[in-house]
Amino acid sequence: MSYRGRFAPSPTGRLHFGSLLTATASYLEARSQGGTWLLRIEDLDTTRIHPETTQAIIRTLALHGFVWDENILHQSRRLALYQQALQALNHRHLTYPCTCSRSTLQQQARTGAHGLIYPGTCRHRQAVPDGRRHAIRIRVPDRDICFTDQVQGLFCQNPALALGDFVLRRADGIFAYQLAVVVDDAAQGITHVVRGADLLDNTPRQYYLQEQLGLAQPQYAHIPQACNAQGQKLSKQTLAVALESNQALASLCRVWNALNQPPLQAGDFSSVREFWDHAIRHWALKRVAGTLRLAQAF
Ligand SMILES: [Zn+2]
Repeated sequence: MSYRGRFAPSPTGRLHFGSLLTATASYLEARSQGGTWLLRIEDLDTTRIHPETTQAIIRTLALHGFVWDENILHQSRRLALYQQALQALNHRHLTYPCTCSRSTLQQQARTGAHGLIYPGTCRHRQAVPDGRRHAIRIRVPDRDICFTDQVQGLFCQNPALALGDFVLRRADGIFAYQLAVVVDDAAQGITHVVRGADLLDNTPRQYYLQEQLGLAQPQYAHIPQACNAQGQKLSKQTLAVALESNQALASLCRVWNALNQPPLQAGDFSSVREFWDHAIRHWALKRVAGTLRLAQAF
């Protein structure tokens, strides 16, 4: 089976160094294997996204020399597919409506490593009284779900202990990331997912959904989070500045170096295109390990 990878940014903010890092790792891994690389915009959460941010992300990627195959997929245009998947899970009696408010859960639920652990309050509810606003949750099994990550190694999680039954569609009607991502990875025939380690603990939930929906499971590689020289994770908070388009070559070299590849500098290349030609030939995923630390402040 030929390699199919993807980069799937959520347009909640402009592309920053951390997202460029995962985009680059995913791109190089796909291209170095002669694979296909797709771009997907995860714009389901209409309360947090802006159309102009989507355009800015696409423009920034293009200016950094990324070339995607096939049409860009926008999740906001695919709601019918997520609804079908939800129905398939419902037919298997795996889902149920939940009317718990955030404040009720904050009082009743314990907090685990990934936030509140749903206590199962509505687990045996069949129907919702009088069309009350409700989320849809999926029953999770009380067993370890394990997978072997190409970078992080073996990772196991018991979803019942770690988070409880999780939400597939929010009370405001917005489909959850977990559902949409497995539907789209399958629809796009994704064989390899290279993404940030902040999503590592989401993967067992996605494995579970793939199992229940009878979908193929991609190979995963979770790239460690980049830290600044002080060891703080780079986030939109610690890195308010978006990438400068006129610094594309310098940014790509910093990203390359941060990914523990043989060091490069912008002066080694006369164009972004030349950087990519070199990078695709010299990339090795196996060098990416541990904490990625930037040699210089960004
Ligand atoms: Zn509930």
